[in-house]
Amino acid sequence: MTYDLSPRPLNPAPAAPAMTWPNGARSAVFVGFDVDAETAWIGNNPSNVDRMVTTSHGGYDARVGIRKILELMDELAIKATFFTPGWTALAHRAICETMLAAGHEIGHHGYLHKLPERDKLDEAFEEIDRGFEALQSALGVRPVGYRAPSGENFPELLAYLARSGIRYSSSFRDDILPYRHAPHGADRGLVEIPVNFAFDDWNFGMSSRSSSRPLFGRDAVLRLWIDEFEATHAWGGVTTLVLHPQVSGRPMRWHLLRDFLRYVQTKPDVWVATGQQIAEHFERQDRDEN
Ligand SMILES: [Zn+2]
Repeated sequence: MTYDLSPRPLNPAPAAPAMTWPNGARSAVFVGFDVDAETAWIGNNPSNVDRMVTTSHGGYDARVGIRKILELMDELAIKATFFTPGWTALAHRAICETMLAAGHEIGHHGYLHKLPERDKLDEAFEEIDRGFEALQSALGVRPVGYRAPSGENFPELLAYLARSGIRYSSSFRDDILPYRHAPHGADRGLVEIPVNFAFDDWNFGMSSRSSSRPLFGRDAVLRLWIDEFEATHAWGGVTTLVLHPQVSGRPMRWHLLRDFLRYVQTKPDVWVATGQQIAEHFERQDRDEN
């Protein structure tokens, strides 16, 4: 494989259009969970499948994490998006059905949470197809949103997602407002709802048995999240959360997340929405202006 390293913007998407949020809101908050379960541990490291304690980090999702997160969303009356690998939906069908029954959005998150790689296009496309098939057979849903497993993407994959009926992506880290990707061949570019890496709970609350690192406590993370949210709110952007039930469904982190979301809810001018709602709002504005 040779690489084109010529100087150019590596994301050719045009600038984000000015955004007006619904009902006079100043900013938006997108509560997104990645329901990786065991796929986080076996997708890129298949040999872990025979390591029951390693994969039990992910097993927390089905045994405790998802249920606690759903309780929290119910208590706060928040609808969220649950990006769910196909493998998770098949392995843990009953608990995944409760996410759907509670009225939350199910998003596409690959099949086995494999990092998409540009030099293995067939594998990358197969992950997309199998993810759709599994979500259809386990839950009867055809998602319109996609978050890249292991947070990676490339032009051919964006085009394949658009052709497959995906309308928005939520993986990129290059803006604070939704924007539209450059056209994918004959297809219109996907809407991107960019994420803020400061809101990926994995950074603070998950370690690894083989290369452990310290975790961050409640005060450090709550302060960081409130400050980052306040600043994004002041700029009128979207605060996109990248949460995992196997992290934020843990007891202390569950309370931390509750405190943060309660703080968000003290503001009258924040629109808390699912990815699909934000993408549809973007599309409406886009249509009105063109
Ligand atoms: Zn994930």
